Amino acid sequence: MANGKERRKPIAAALAIGALIGAGIALLLSPRRGRELRTLLREGGESLVDSARQRTGQNAKPTAVAEERGLALSLKAKHADYDVILIGAGHNGLVAAAYLAKAGRKVLVLEQRNIVGGSAVTEELLPGYKFSTLADGAGSLSPDIIADLNLRRHGIEFLSSDPLVFSPQPDGTHLTIWHDSERTAQEIAKYSVTDAENYPIFIDQMGKFSQVIAGLKNMIPPDLPDVGLRDMMELLNIATPVRGLGRKSIAQVIRVIPMSVADLLNEWFESDTVKGSIAASAVKDISWGPQEAGTAYMLLYNWSGANNGLFRSSGQVKGGIGSLTRGLADAAKSFGAEILTDSQVTKIIIQDGQAAGVELSNGDRFSSAVVVSATDMRTTFLKLVDPYYLNQRFVKHVQNIKYRGTMARVHFTLNKLPQFTAANGNGNQLLNGHVQIAPTMTYLQKAYDPVKYGHYSTEPYLDIHIPTLIDSSLAPEGKHLMSVTARYMPYHLREGDWSELRDTLGQLVIDTIAGYAPGFSRCVEQIHIVTPVDMESDYFLPEGNLAHGEMTLDQFLWMRPVPGYAQYRAPVGSLYLCSAATHPGGGLTGINGRNAARQIVKDWK
Ligand SMILES: Cc1cc2nc3c(=O)[nH]c(=O)nc-3n(C[C@H](O)[C@H](O)[C@H](O)COP(=O)(O)OP(=O)(O)OC[C@H]3O[C@@H](n4cnc5c(N)ncnc54)[C@H](O)[C@@H]3O)c2cc1C
Repeated sequence: MANGKERRKPIAAALAIGALIGAGIALLLSPRRGRELRTLLREGGESLVDSARQRTGQNAKPTAVAEERGLALSLKAKHADYDVILIGAGHNGLVAAAYLAKAGRKVLVLEQRNIVGGSAVTEELLPGYKFSTLADGAGSLSPDIIADLNLRRHGIEFLSSDPLVFSPQPDGTHLTIWHDSERTAQEIAKYSVTDAENYPIFIDQMGKFSQVIAGLKNMIPPDLPDVGLRDMMELLNIATPVRGLGRKSIAQVIRVIPMSVADLLNEWFESDTVKGSIAASAVKDISWGPQEAGTAYMLLYNWSGANNGLFRSSGQVKGGIGSLTRGLADAAKSFGAEILTDSQVTKIIIQDGQAAGVELSNGDRFSSAVVVSATDMRTTFLKLVDPYYLNQRFVKHVQNIKYRGTMARVHFTLNKLPQFTAANGNGNQLLNGHVQIAPTMTYLQKAYDPVKYGHYSTEPYLDIHIPTLIDSSLAPEGKHLMSVTARYMPYHLREGDWSELRDTLGQLVIDTIAGYAPGFSRCVEQIHIVTPVDMESDYFLPEGNLAHGEMTLDQFLWMRPVPGYAQYRAPVGSLYLCSAATHPGGGLTGINGRNAARQIVKDWK
């Protein structure tokens, strides 16, 4: 039996990771300098130039008088229409609504679109075909949320796919990644026997590391430097995964997080094909290429959410991803929440320094004890909150959030399945996961390079999904639909604009696929394109960014959404945040919504 000292080891290690994982934490915890340093941290995030100017007195003083900190001190019952109003019915808003309603609060969700779901919607973009317009993979949703909200009772059926990845090569060979590591190792042996031997060890080790990240994702980040008992309790989230690691591995996790995925994979593998197949998962949700620092963290982040235990999630929801968010809405309603669509919030009403309700575009007003913004930071603080109530420094932080979306979606209706040369007639079996056009890590890096100079990639990284292979309900009988996420299509173009480039983009995707599946254009009947600019104008994602802010290391943990406000509280009393802009970031995890609801319930004293 472990003695007390032994039992305390994982907790001590968890505390060590929590403390070490971000630069400067130890310094921030220093009792004498802590408060002052937090102020500096908040200042630093606004822009290095601005804080330097501030120090030399060259900046104007803040113009607005603001609540410096939004500690929700006044959540005691008010005479209001609702206890909580949530702005936005994306999956995070719906998850938060469900938890809060389940906790006995009277909840109203207001969504500006005519359907719920935000980036997770299924729409009939072309008659008779149900496309998951943006997100399509539901494998990252937290299993705890599925259980807590009884989601399976609300018509949500998860369909799994195997293989996870089919990576065709220009020479007609392919690398297939299966859920079973040994089976994958046999495939890898075609490219490198050494890599085949290393692969299962890599999966085992990185799988353990990713569980530490999973623990970090689930916790409400500490409120530096005033780390209280609650924050310490949150760190217990990483105690169990840390228990599975030796002391050496703990040091390795800390080393891996800031690495580039290229450096990480170069240490493990020699085949560029093997490295490309894995690296693609690290860069799929970020604007960067595999050689950029911090992309190893993104690999672990995606891995930590993948319910199938591999480095990217797989599988889909029957009926399309919209079934997931409709199911979440049903779950929220089953606990008593009300949801109104076609209800655009134009203002967060503030009274006595506290959020007190909202105003809609049609002039309707609803009052509430608490307002939760489930939308992005730009909308919340540059459009909905009167700047009078915000500190100029905080506004600067919000203005400096990096977005830089680089994704487009190209949807096709098909009269027959494309014949990938590498699939050699086994398309029905091999294509039901993700078909990745990212044959090598070098290809990925070169695909990214033009983005640095404001150009789109002419040899793009494509993530192809044919959901009708496992769900025929999405298309008319005998037909298929294909959705392609095309990467390295920057929102900010140096030349041209996306409205002019729409057809060029469609043709580029067709030609790229045809390079691996000759005659692909003859399979295509119709096409629907969603550019990064459409993602902003039609789906309200700033600069087309899927995570309401880049998932870079300077925008994670307690620096997300902005330094000093990582605990889902805003700098206005009774106003909370719960979208992908908050910790832990993007993806259909639902964790942001759940963490925010936990925080609100805790504060509701
Ligand atoms: C192309 C693409 C592909 C993706 N693929 C995947 C994937 O396969 N798997 C995965 O896990 N993740 C994927 N993601 C990421 C994932 O979809 C997002 O990170 C996630 O959906 C964000 O959810 P959210 O609830 O935080 O915000 P959102 O989904 O953006 O929801 C915010 C909601 O707020 C509403 N709103 C905004 N302003 C107002 C207002 N003033 N009044 C009322 N309502 C308002 C919006 O209309 C929207 O419904 C993808 C994203 C994109 C763009």
